[in-house]
Amino acid sequence: MLYFRLKIFPLELNMKNGWETVIGLEIHAQLSTESKIFCGCSTHFGDEPNSNTCPVCLGLPGALPVLNRRAVELGARAALALGLQINERSIFARKNYFYPDLPKGYQISQYDQPFSANGELEIMTARRDEAGHPLEWAPKRIRITRLHLEEDAGKNVHEGLPDVDRFSYIDLNRAGTPLAEIVTEPEFRSSWEAHDYVNHVRRVLRWVGASEADMEKGNLRCEPNVSVRRIGNETFGTKVELKNLNSVRFMQRAIEFEIERQITLLESGGKVNQETRLWDERAQETRVMRSKEEAHDYRYFPEPDLAPLEVSVEFIDGVKASMPELPEERRQRFVQQYDLSFSDASQLTSERTLADYYESAVEASGNARTAANWIRSELLRELESSGLAASASPIPPQELGKLLRLVDEDKISGKQGKDVLVEMFKTGRTAAAIVEEQGLAQVSDTGEIDGVIDEVLAANPGQVTSYRSGKETLFGFFVGQVMKASKGKANPRVVNERLKAKLS
Ligand code: ADP
Ligand code: ZN
Ligand code: MG
Repeated sequence: MLYFRLKIFPLELNMKNGWETVIGLEIHAQLSTESKIFCGCSTHFGDEPNSNTCPVCLGLPGALPVLNRRAVELGARAALALGLQINERSIFARKNYFYPDLPKGYQISQYDQPFSANGELEIMTARRDEAGHPLEWAPKRIRITRLHLEEDAGKNVHEGLPDVDRFSYIDLNRAGTPLAEIVTEPEFRSSWEAHDYVNHVRRVLRWVGASEADMEKGNLRCEPNVSVRRIGNETFGTKVELKNLNSVRFMQRAIEFEIERQITLLESGGKVNQETRLWDERAQETRVMRSKEEAHDYRYFPEPDLAPLEVSVEFIDGVKASMPELPEERRQRFVQQYDLSFSDASQLTSERTLADYYESAVEASGNARTAANWIRSELLRELESSGLAASASPIPPQELGKLLRLVDEDKISGKQGKDVLVEMFKTGRTAAAIVEEQGLAQVSDTGEIDGVIDEVLAANPGQVTSYRSGKETLFGFFVGQVMKASKGKANPRVVNERLKAKLS
């Protein structure tokens, strides 16, 4: 495993130099439909290049787009989960530009009448120490300008070195997959706030089933716009748009690099050019991709092949009614209802299936605290090392609950319980079966334990006399002997109690 060291300039440092960072984010999320947004081709990832194509997504003359209803539903789920208002009427527009992966010569997107707008969202964000550990979490309101629907382009695949023997191939399987583009106001004041927002969006989109939102697979992409200004200045500085960021970590590094670059430039009397820059992960720097002068004039105009998109109030209400309790609400409820810490509740609501799992385990075990501890430390370790989601756990929550009851009722020790959990995970068998087979059941019966204690005391008369005449350190010796005689099965708590009673 290779770890990258993240160089993060805490907000305070920029403040100290008298500069403030301003960031706005554009996120593209692929909506999880089976078929593309304007044709019936599959959106399945990783198929033979160009196998999922048809006249519509190949941009052949005369082929007409038909809007996928599912894309609208998922877009609505995403919009509602992010606190946006859905417009009952929106317009698709052609965004014209030339690029080999865009066969029509334009992208069908939305422009001045988007699907949804005017969102306000509360996220949790934290200041971090130098190692990036959160110091203190606090809510922050983020205004979201819009969420609109559009199609994705295809993919250019390059081979060979640039300028030498270079071949480029075009795969149009991705052309026409549905995207939601989500644009914020310039709300963020540090790369960590941007980080926390992206994670919030990612979690919420997965939670409501709108998108897989996996940056590594490319179905969530983010483009930060970054500027700096002197503290106290009302007006924003000139912004730079950053592209080519394949993970949240890269995004943060690119933002940090950009902040430094802009501050250095401005302090030496230069000025920031409005431009688009690409992050080069190998060189750890951003580079100009195109300047404002070279910016595209997209010549947007309404898409003549598609009617305006009209959604009824009933449709919106229907989507609202089908929405699950959102992660933030659920986190807050977990803190109150189950008396969990913020970080416990956050981890248990990181995925909806995990939150569901936890609540079933609480019910089955009757102990919210124990269920939280065991899931966080024992179960998640097993799930992570086998790459499984909670919903696919070989230990169903009801069975975990039964195991926790065995521990709570002292039928087996905590240590034994942990071994049993590993065995359950490996074999899918129940706790009761494993305890039975391995003869683990802990002996808590006082009569039985008293018998063993009597034998031990009778066998060690000398130590008994010394103990009674004041050598109390011998107590541990007796406990050890009793545990040994019971082959480790005696409940240590009962052994302690009974030994004290018999020796006094
Ligand atoms: P453009 O016309 O270049 O697309 P927009 O006004 O649509 O610019 O904004 C695009 C993104 O850039 C939005 O997320 C917005 O919040 C952000 N943004 C706008 N101005 C600034 C600025 N001065 N500094 C940082 N981000 C900005
Ligand atoms: Zn197609
Ligand atoms: Mg814009």
